[in-house]
Amino acid sequence: MFFADYHTHSSDASFDAADGIASLAASAAARGLTELAVTDHCDMGSDFAPRAYMAAFSAAAESSPVPLLLGIELGESLHNPARAREMLGAMPLDFVIGAYHRLKSSDDFYLLDYPDIPTCRSLIRLYLEELYETCAEGNFDVLAHLTYPLRYMRGRGGMDIDFTAYRAEVAQIYRLAISQGKGIELNLSGLLKKTGLLMPDIELLRLYRECGGKIITCGSDAHCAADVGTHLREGYDILRHAGFAYITSYRERRPRYEKL
Ligand SMILES: [Zn+2]
Ligand SMILES: [Zn+2]
Repeated sequence: MFFADYHTHSSDASFDAADGIASLAASAAARGLTELAVTDHCDMGSDFAPRAYMAAFSAAAESSPVPLLLGIELGESLHNPARAREMLGAMPLDFVIGAYHRLKSSDDFYLLDYPDIPTCRSLIRLYLEELYETCAEGNFDVLAHLTYPLRYMRGRGGMDIDFTAYRAEVAQIYRLAISQGKGIELNLSGLLKKTGLLMPDIELLRLYRECGGKIITCGSDAHCAADVGTHLREGYDILRHAGFAYITSYRERRPRYEKL
């Protein structure tokens, strides 16, 4: 039975991760995963080195106890679409998560202040506009952690806010992604951080299905070996509750449906 973590970071290429790809693979095997996608950060503003990443990946894959997929979390492709395409062409990638952490006009949502609800609302509007543009560029397989700003608005900012008022805008993004043969992920990092925030939440997962969405992956967003595959069973249960019968796997960026 397919059981795989499709969002993980290693210290071989992610500045904010603790363990190398080989350690992630060992942890995946210990947790009973059937495969593991390594999706290190490849941000447009960074000096990501495809060759070094591929070398580290190949070395780990040779002796890995589980099949490894070469992936990246492509950050902010909208800020430099030419470089994004160059990165996608520079590696024999299995899987690409498209992430949007930072608006064109500001810093990562992680670094912003959230003094009041109106500020949050205007930031969310911009986030959704630019995520739509990101989607139109199409440099990804699944969109990462939809509703990402909530992690910091609700968490550190303490704001009582969600995406209920933005269902129409989210549906537009979904429809565009679906029309291009792209999908979304269910990001479980909120379970790891004990905030409980699912990105996106079950209501928006259901909306995705209502829009005709079928392609979906699930990942812990682990930044250390110990977190690989954590809460994955819960994640799969949440997808079943949202009405999904299949989850998506990737090889050479081609989706395949696996029974949930
Ligand atoms: Zn991310
Ligand atoms: Zn990530």
